[in-house]
Amino acid sequence: MMFKSTKGQSPSLPVSQAMLMGAAPDGGLYVPHDLPRFSVDDFDDPSDLPGVAQTLLTPFFRGDGLLAQLGDICAEVFNFPAPMVRLKNGARALELFHGPTAAFKDFGARFLAACMDRLADDDHPLTVLVATSGDTGGAVGCAFAGAKAAKVIILYPKGRVSPFQELQLTCWPGVTALRVAGDFDDCQAMVKAAFAAPKLKESYGLSSANSINVGRLLPQMVYYAASSIQVFKETGHKANYIIPTGNLGNGMACLWARSCGLPIGDVIFGQNANRALTDYFHAGRYAPAASIATLANAMDVGNPSNFERFMAGLPGLGQGIRAYSIDDQTIAAQIKKDAEQLDHVWCPHSAVAAYGYDILGDDEKALPWVIVATAHAFKFRENVEPLIGHDIAPSPALAAIKDMPALVADIPADLSALAAVLAG
Ligand SMILES: *Cc1c(COP(=O)(O)O)cnc(C)c1O
Repeated sequence: MMFKSTKGQSPSLPVSQAMLMGAAPDGGLYVPHDLPRFSVDDFDDPSDLPGVAQTLLTPFFRGDGLLAQLGDICAEVFNFPAPMVRLKNGARALELFHGPTAAFKDFGARFLAACMDRLADDDHPLTVLVATSGDTGGAVGCAFAGAKAAKVIILYPKGRVSPFQELQLTCWPGVTALRVAGDFDDCQAMVKAAFAAPKLKESYGLSSANSINVGRLLPQMVYYAASSIQVFKETGHKANYIIPTGNLGNGMACLWARSCGLPIGDVIFGQNANRALTDYFHAGRYAPAASIATLANAMDVGNPSNFERFMAGLPGLGQGIRAYSIDDQTIAAQIKKDAEQLDHVWCPHSAVAAYGYDILGDDEKALPWVIVATAHAFKFRENVEPLIGHDIAPSPALAAIKDMPALVADIPADLSALAAVLAG
């Protein structure tokens, strides 16, 4: 399988080359030339995530040097569950936060790190640059901590991440964390500018691990495949998903999985006050905007980078999609209400998706709906605990992070500051 640039001006590459490139040289993003077709019967046991992963991802690695190691990579990466829990209101919650940093980005970050660590060596050094609005950097730092060949630099916006997120960005031995005087879009612009500077890119072997990296998106298809097959076997119906959406990375993976023939019906994107996608799906016009700070801060994205992949137009991608946007007050009310009525505590991002279920009509609620829960509520406890009126216990992995020392440097939002850090 080859991957092409959304801008169409760069040569197509096999998957490991596309992963190392991050963004394509023409500024586009890599997308598969076409998608493999699967049926439910291709998967023996949907509860076996490594097995689902290997079956699903093999066609994407055909012709690539990493194919022989894909089984090992899947076993290493998918070593924690993605359980679906049934809520009192009949919806299912797909819990994607049982990994080491308690957010869904663990799947993509760990997969990319496992691949890159197998691709890098003394002759091919790698420096991964990550711009993060919150959870990405933690997941990537954790995934690469202890990597043999690759270095990681994380950029995050000062004052825009929760205290615990900040700890999770700055606690990984060997990982450089930079606190940028700007917002997430500034961080993302700095990373893009570094990639656009050929001298920097070549001397340091710059690569990306943001959700623009196709190596992050492919493994995210796995939990949509596994959960949709499970729902289909249980109910005889396709699974419909409500996905809390920022950069559209998680959402794109679901749309790709659907276009691969997995039993996925409608897909609804839930947004916070950053409503570029909502406006697009309502009015057909895409208008990127400056990002707005919200309670669901990992979704504070004014110009979702994966929209370009959506527009790249693989077959059937755009069918059966809806989107909505809610403000912080509505997010808070949802958390409070569901804690009371469902005994279920959401993180603010997951609460955005939970709202989407409540506004469905009764005929729609008769079908299976999966609310995608993207992070453990403990990570946002400063905001969540006052709403629910009690403390939230950390997951075991989060409890361990709490005691690790932080290391971070402040830099202004410009490329020369980043270049100085690279030069050491
Ligand atoms: C990153 C993130 C999101 C948004 O995912 P995208 O792939 O950017 O759409 C939602 N929830 C949490 C907890 C996140 O960390």
